[in-house]
Amino acid sequence: MSTTLPGFEFVTAGKVRDLYAPTGRDDLLLLVANDRVSAFDQVLSRPIPGRAALLTALTRWWFGHLPDVPNHLADDAVPVPPEVADRAMLVRRLSMHPVECVVRQVVTGSGYQEYRRVGSISGVPLPEGLQDGDRLPEPIFTPAYKAELGAHDENIPFEQVVDLVGARTAEALRDTSLAIFRTAAAVANAKGVLLADTKFEFGDDEHGVLTLGDEVLTPDSSRYWDAAAYAEGRRGVSFDKQIIRDWLSAHWDGHGTAPDLPDEVVERTANRYRELVDRITG
Ligand code: ATP
Ligand code: MG
Repeated sequence: MSTTLPGFEFVTAGKVRDLYAPTGRDDLLLLVANDRVSAFDQVLSRPIPGRAALLTALTRWWFGHLPDVPNHLADDAVPVPPEVADRAMLVRRLSMHPVECVVRQVVTGSGYQEYRRVGSISGVPLPEGLQDGDRLPEPIFTPAYKAELGAHDENIPFEQVVDLVGARTAEALRDTSLAIFRTAAAVANAKGVLLADTKFEFGDDEHGVLTLGDEVLTPDSSRYWDAAAYAEGRRGVSFDKQIIRDWLSAHWDGHGTAPDLPDEVVERTANRYRELVDRITG
């Protein structure tokens, strides 16, 4: 799926992004998103038109609204090929910490499953009797170990983050993640969107400064729910691939290759992404 970009060398392909480096520069990376979408651990056959550009625009917008945290954007360091400009980010190459910095203010998804099993998430004890989709009084930091490509990330307690990156960095990861989450949740809330949970990735820059990397606060890395629906008791009315997941669950038994999405589902999903970006950035 990777294309040849003049002036850049292909580095590697993730599920929905390709990484390039400018020729002769090992301090920069170009993260190029594409319109492919994954669900139930498969990359689906039909892309969602406009998705990559919308998610890239949203990440950029958030970086611009988180002034207190250094981020990896390196916009003007070298020219970016125009054919990918709207879905690419030129960034400083960081030494990434192998921790997915997850913050939650709603208990749902895999976090809720873990809570049901052991009464805590990533070792954070929680009150008894929580239901799927309940809101917590305070956001909590529930880190995960970033698994190799293809493997599932594994929730780990804070002490294990300390073992991985040292106490000082572990505390900085936790405190910075919680601070960004609070800021972002307040912004989203003012726009009628409940930020249920999200995931950040950080690395150290060449001076050892903790820097926010990857994509941030996109519907791929976050659960955004409609706040009005939530207030009426309708939980999980989300701005992400839920439309796709619902359709697949109703039309596929989960074995073999997923069926092609119909036009109508593709269109509704594209509209939903656009609606979220308009709401947050509007
Ligand atoms: P998944 O498809 O499950 O998300 P992935 O995270 O490995 O897999 P991508 O998200 O497509 O794949 O690829 C982005 C990769 O680039 C991630 O491994 C991420 O940690 C890394 N990354 C993001 N920003 C930087 C940066 N500034 N410097 C170095 N690596 C980065
Ligand atoms: Mg990723």
